[in-house]
Amino acid sequence: MDCVFCGIISGDIPSNKVYESENVLAFRDINPMAPVHILIVPKKHISGADALDEGNVGVVSEIMLTARMLAEKEGLKDGWRLVTNVGEHGGQTVKHLHFHLLGGKKLSVELA
Ligand code: AMP
Ligand code: ZN
Repeated sequence: MDCVFCGIISGDIPSNKVYESENVLAFRDINPMAPVHILIVPKKHISGADALDEGNVGVVSEIMLTARMLAEKEGLKDGWRLVTNVGEHGGQTVKHLHFHLLGGKKLSVELA
């Protein structure tokens, strides 16, 4: 499987890691859209939110709590955003489930 985020998780591809647990990895986006732009991913490959089911959705709770913890750690006291893109219309370019944690400025409210 040719997956850039699996490459980061295995250590084959370098990344700027900010947090790691048994199930989750967080690292800085290579092309930041905000002063804080962190990607939070499950270590187990899941192709996107459209591939979540009863058997693998548990990791999403851990990702939510990781986002909350990192937002606090990064000093995002005025707010932050957690986004996951799905498929072509959603703008998903990497087919490994990931959540963008964005903050550090007033973010655009445009959603579409
Ligand atoms: P998406 O468009 O939602 O699939 O987001 C994919 C994100 O991954 C983009 O914001 C890219 O900048 C980011 N990205 C791609 N390759 C890397 C990499 N090697 N290290 C860090 N971020 C990456
Ligand atoms: Zn992967």
